[in-house]
Amino acid sequence: MKIIAIGRNYAEHAKELNNPVPVVPVIFMKPDTALLKENKPFYHPDFSEDIHHEIEIVLKINKEGKHVNEKFAAGYFDEIALGVDFTARDIQQRHKEKGLPWELAKAFDGSAPISNFVQKAQFADIYNLNFRLDVNQQTRQQGNTKDLLFSFERIIVFVSKYITLKKGDLIFTGTPQGVGKVNIGDRLEGYLENEKMLDFYVK
Ligand code: MG
Repeated sequence: MKIIAIGRNYAEHAKELNNPVPVVPVIFMKPDTALLKENKPFYHPDFSEDIHHEIEIVLKINKEGKHVNEKFAAGYFDEIALGVDFTARDIQQRHKEKGLPWELAKAFDGSAPISNFVQKAQFADIYNLNFRLDVNQQTRQQGNTKDLLFSFERIIVFVSKYITLKKGDLIFTGTPQGVGKVNIGDRLEGYLENEKMLDFYVK
């Protein structure tokens, strides 16, 4: 399986990092070794002084898709989860300045904690989903899927033009504003529509 992630998919987050609001989706990938499940602790790597949390809605692809038509794109995922796209912001900043790729800042081990999946059908409207991240019981990020720049369907259409999607692939769909540094000892709790989905520590 592979993990595809969308950058700058909420305008207010693009602005907080002084990035332009994109006209086509920004994508990058993480390997399967980035996954962190069952609320296992995230071990803070020593190669970065500035690991940021980015809370995101994650889609699980349910069948193979290449050149998916927008009309059918909603049929390519049944389940969603909450995930964190941990980002070594200091490394990313240096790489952005030099025009280098982002892998070292985004794809490291444990950089993709993920909750259990839930059926999207249980929600009345997947484009009105509130989600948030609390750090040490203080809300740091709060988002709603109505603010997505590129919808889940448009992401699937765009990605599948270039990369065949396979059953079990995950798509991290971008983070709302409020990203910030995590420290050893922090407790991260993620909520989807007031249901606690993530609860883990930084060690
Ligand atoms: Mg992200």
